[in-house]
Amino acid sequence: MNFDLSEAERIRYDRQIRIQNWGLEKQIKLKKSKVAVIGVGGLGSPISIYLAAAGVGKIILVDSEKFELSNLNRQIIASTCDLNRFKAEVAAEKLKKLNPEINVVFTTSLLNENSIEEVIGGCDVIVDALDNWSTRFLLNRFCVRKNIPLVHGGVTGWGGQTFTILPRRGPCLECVFKGVREVEGGFPVVGVTPGIIGVIEALEVIKLLTGLSKPLYDKMLVFDGFETSFEYVDIKRNLKCEVCGDG
Ligand SMILES: [Zn+2]
Repeated sequence: MNFDLSEAERIRYDRQIRIQNWGLEKQIKLKKSKVAVIGVGGLGSPISIYLAAAGVGKIILVDSEKFELSNLNRQIIASTCDLNRFKAEVAAEKLKKLNPEINVVFTTSLLNENSIEEVIGGCDVIVDALDNWSTRFLLNRFCVRKNIPLVHGGVTGWGGQTFTILPRRGPCLECVFKGVREVEGGFPVVGVTPGIIGVIEALEVIKLLTGLSKPLYDKMLVFDGFETSFEYVDIKRNLKCEVCGDG
């Protein structure tokens, strides 16, 4: 594959290439990158749109569900005509229209211990855009084992949180959320909330891939949309963690 940038690509990405220290070099880094977005709903919509627009060379979309009418207050990659179609398939079509220069693949199969390596192995970054903790913890174990950065995001109601797991450099999901209780079935959520957390996750991916700035791995950003406030919460590695601990 040719990793030079065509004239059209140079124009498409011009406004970010001109960011200080970005240049053609970082843009080519993005083009060479492979990122998996796990979940193509409220978080996955803005994440995948911004990663495609930014020129991430290969995007893998993973979601086994189809769009339902009650998704549409927040899952902005879908139009009403997409109801009852697989989310990952719809999103892949839209991303390819947004940016034909990149490679987008999708799967509608469920992730489990046996399939995960085949589906998302070899990625540079994996993005948690999920709404359940059991799959999040599966991703966390995989990413720690493979030493792949995992960008976490979660929302409910008016708020949400995000941070990045850099395996063994900072806390993992198990260190921070061990014992968290699963919220069963369709929790309420203001549609904008996953938009806000999702775009921060996309920014985090771009930082990780380009090496520009510092990822958010030693504290967690917590957003309260009702109060319109952001705050940092200190998080620490548990050296006895069952997933990332030393012992
Ligand atoms: Zn841990």
